[in-house]
Amino acid sequence: MYKDVLLPIDLNHESSWRKALPAAVAVCKQFKANLHLLTVIPDFGMSMVSQYFPENHQQEMKKNALEGLHALSREHVGADVSVQHMVGVGTVYQIILETAKDMNADLIVLAAHRPELKDYLLGPNASRVVRHAKCSVYVIRE
Ligand code: ADP
Repeated sequence: MYKDVLLPIDLNHESSWRKALPAAVAVCKQFKANLHLLTVIPDFGMSMVSQYFPENHQQEMKKNALEGLHALSREHVGADVSVQHMVGVGTVYQIILETAKDMNADLIVLAAHRPELKDYLLGPNASRVVRHAKCSVYVIRE
């Protein structure tokens, strides 16, 4: 039923993967689907703040983010699931939606929000993904 499952992860918030990663892995095992882990880092580009960072700052951030994703999959994804790791640069919900479209994802799995923001049933990125994604979205609540 599912072939390519996209799991967007905020590496600064464990709540974005603690329950969502096992849920995505379970779906992948059941359907023999590929798991695609994506994290998004900000694009400093030509912004005012960019001048305060060393030139290769973005490359370093990308490298660290990729390592972070690899560490998560080493620890939490078994060898029986095929995993791809991706780092996007830009606005979180836009990159999630673009990536889902480009890779033809048939399911996006994501945590609803950080626990601190429990007054909101859906966080700002999650709600935009749910509203605009062309594929199914599996929202994981605490
Ligand atoms: P909150 O503001 O409470 O974190 P969000 O809607 O931003 O709520 O986060 C919900 C989900 O959005 C996260 O669990 C994750 O799947 C995704 N997300 C948030 N930030 C990022 C990021 N930097 N990279 C990838 N995915 C992210």
